[in-house]
Amino acid sequence: MLCQAASKMAIKVIVLDPSENCPASALAYDHMVGSFDDSATVEEFAKRCGVLTAETEHVDVATLEKLEQQGIDCEPKASTIRIIQDKYLQKVHFSRHGIPLPEFMEINNLEETKRAGELYGYPLMIKGKRLAYDGRGNAVAKSEGELSSAIDVLGGFGRGLYVEKWAPFIKELAVIVARGRDNSILCYPVVETIHKENICHIVKAPADVPWRIRKLANDVAYKAISSLEGAGVFAVELFLTRDGQILLNEVAPRPHNSGHHTIESCYTSQFEQHLRAVVGLPLGDPSMKTPAAIMYNLLGEDEGEPGFKVAHQLIARALEIPGATAHWYDKPEMRRQRKMGHITLVGPSVGVLEARQKSMLREEGYENR
Ligand code: ADP
Ligand code: MG
Repeated sequence: MLCQAASKMAIKVIVLDPSENCPASALAYDHMVGSFDDSATVEEFAKRCGVLTAETEHVDVATLEKLEQQGIDCEPKASTIRIIQDKYLQKVHFSRHGIPLPEFMEINNLEETKRAGELYGYPLMIKGKRLAYDGRGNAVAKSEGELSSAIDVLGGFGRGLYVEKWAPFIKELAVIVARGRDNSILCYPVVETIHKENICHIVKAPADVPWRIRKLANDVAYKAISSLEGAGVFAVELFLTRDGQILLNEVAPRPHNSGHHTIESCYTSQFEQHLRAVVGLPLGDPSMKTPAAIMYNLLGEDEGEPGFKVAHQLIARALEIPGATAHWYDKPEMRRQRKMGHITLVGPSVGVLEARQKSMLREEGYENR
């Protein structure tokens, strides 16, 4: 989607990705096949770029730091990616900057985990510090008896774990924040994200919350991003609690699933905005040009052909709905719960769009998905 936005502005994107037929390869100016976790590869790749950016935080950050010292321009800065790629370090960073968060604690053995359980209560959220995405890397223990198995599911203490107090949220919100090279900051409208089994299913824009909550969410997001270095778009995931508090869940230093709706619903999509920011163009208007949008993720069903068929039936149905746009990423393999594409509906109100979305799912028999 970054490459699609780049083509409109004649910005040439060279992609580094280990998979020969990765979705971006068909759209990029050039594609270097290789790992973004391998030092020599990243160095060779960087030589070919005027500016380096990442759309995953799981990259070899030590090499990025070395390249920055040699004068390579990396946006956002390697220091930002270093903080964010370790969720525990991220929490330490934001708590030092006075950002409200669920309480958290590092754990190194079962005894410490039990103590954390006594302190925070249950359910207890256990998270891997690194290499986590789309819920992979989180495990919930509902009682002390479930701690061992939750830790085993995450691969044990060796990978680096920490716990978070359960956030009793009534809604999850997110704000995409853009920062230009001149440090100007713009926030997109606050959205609501709906997760199932730790993975994002639906995004509603704008979020149906009182003005005071919108302002608070914006302020927390603005403050969080102000504490990081470099240009680009960032996603700030937030919890809204019953008593009207906003807590930060996590930050992504890149375009994000909660901002996919901006392609159709905002004057400047998050992808165009990211490119404007990293290459040093003026930031664009982040406001919505439609009253409302809903984004629905197409998650992988079973492996192989039947799963593809289900998703394609849904796309065919979506194409008959006014204001709907289907995005299919053409990932070479389908896996259960993998993000394979998404559908965005734009229209007069979130209520109307919800009804359209429900009818789209019901006609194909997907209402429980
Ligand atoms: P990922 O990197 O997979 O997005 P997150 O840490 O954002 O992982 O967690 C995924 C989802 O799990 C969140 O969107 C939220 O629904 C739930 N979650 C995460 N942390 C907590 C918490 N402390 N309390 C309650 N739910 C949580
Ligand atoms: Mg998340």
